[in-house]
Amino acid sequence: NLSDKLDKAFHILKGHGKITEINVAETLKEVRRALLDADVNFKIAKDFTTKVKEKALGQDVLTTLQPGQLLVKLVKDELTELMGGDVAGINLSGNPTVILMAGLQGSGKTTFSGKLANYLLTKKNKKPLLVACDIYRPAAIQQLYVVGDSIGVEVYSEPENKNPVEIAQNAIKHAKANGFNVVIVDTAGRLAVDEEMMNEIERVHKAIEPQETLFVVDAMTGQDAVNTAKTFNERLNFDGVILTKLDGDTRGGAAISIKSVVNKPIKFVGTGEKMDAIDVFYPIRMAERILGMGDVVSLVERAQEQFDEEEARKIQKKIAKNEFGFDDFLSQIQQVKKMGNMKDLVGMIPGASKAMKDVEIEDDAFKHIEAIIHSMTPIERSKPALIDVKRKARIAKGSGTKIEQVNQLMKQFEQMSKMMKMMQGPGGKNLMKMMGG
Ligand code: GDP
Ligand code: MG
Repeated sequence: NLSDKLDKAFHILKGHGKITEINVAETLKEVRRALLDADVNFKIAKDFTTKVKEKALGQDVLTTLQPGQLLVKLVKDELTELMGGDVAGINLSGNPTVILMAGLQGSGKTTFSGKLANYLLTKKNKKPLLVACDIYRPAAIQQLYVVGDSIGVEVYSEPENKNPVEIAQNAIKHAKANGFNVVIVDTAGRLAVDEEMMNEIERVHKAIEPQETLFVVDAMTGQDAVNTAKTFNERLNFDGVILTKLDGDTRGGAAISIKSVVNKPIKFVGTGEKMDAIDVFYPIRMAERILGMGDVVSLVERAQEQFDEEEARKIQKKIAKNEFGFDDFLSQIQQVKKMGNMKDLVGMIPGASKAMKDVEIEDDAFKHIEAIIHSMTPIERSKPALIDVKRKARIAKGSGTKIEQVNQLMKQFEQMSKMMKMMQGPGGKNLMKMMGG
């Protein structure tokens, strides 16, 4: 699953010692990119990653055993929350329950009306009635009949009547008289938001007082979907969103943006043209889809590789220029320490094991090494040659070690620097990598 996959990606980070704040930032940058790729509004994506970052650092993701997993969980949880958290059910109160469809032309209202009728009929044991209130196009009424026929649901229409308010009201009367307990009102949309359409849907809305006003939006329209949702919400204060055409490669980032902007739950998604291509909207599944489809794993891997290569280049440059100092040594040690046995590592590079033959690095030896380096001044760390007998004595005193230990560290450092230089050759690249460089 996704968590495993991402964990594998983060395994790379772990292999290098630990996840740093930079790693977290890099990773979240990739998450943000995945969100943008999925059509999430820029500001929402940015706010989102900022929030996750704060949480990650606050929860000390950096020091946990499985930082990758925790970070993934944080991202997924936040994303789920952003899309509403829990599943938002459909309100089926009222007798009959009146459901009004609103949205632009082509968004999928007629298709979804059929899907919803079919869903309520087969899954909720309801007796739905479909109502054709698209008075402008005879073909639209015909389309609803085709849909109704295919699922065995009655369609109500008044082809001669040009008043959608009346049609809807009459349909409800018809439903009451004939034992229908759900009335689904399909309406006319325009290609773009216009005043006439808005006035009409508003009038129908007022007249029939639906239990559910559902705004239908094409997931593929991305950012436009957000603006349309805003306008419809201002006029209708709708109860929920239907995200259609979420089949194939559509990423559904619009789901996040719409939820953030209008703060209404997404209730269903449409995933195809057939009548059974309807799903209850699960925020957590959508979070997984968005993360999975952006292929965050490979993005993270790529970012990480770039990051590592940059670090490696920096260190190699330092070594080449004889600028490799105790600070670098310390960070190398800290990374190596997490990986286990230094000798095993060294044994893996031809030539290096010989250079390190006399050097014993044991686990608790690191403690002293770190203490000693911490007692050095910044200048001493960057220019170890400065460290004379007098300075050694001061460092030993400051770190609670003996002057012999300081001497030993100096020797180790020299050996390591030498080894590092050797590693600049072809065989050394791997160790550099392994050491987090
Ligand atoms: P309306 O104008 O809002 O009533 O939209 P329609 O229901 O007529 O749908 C417009 C087009 O989108 C039709 O060709 C539908 O078959 C198609 N459509 C609707 N919902 C979906 C969906 O979930 N997936 C796909 N692939 N196509 C859909
Ligand atoms: Mg239609």
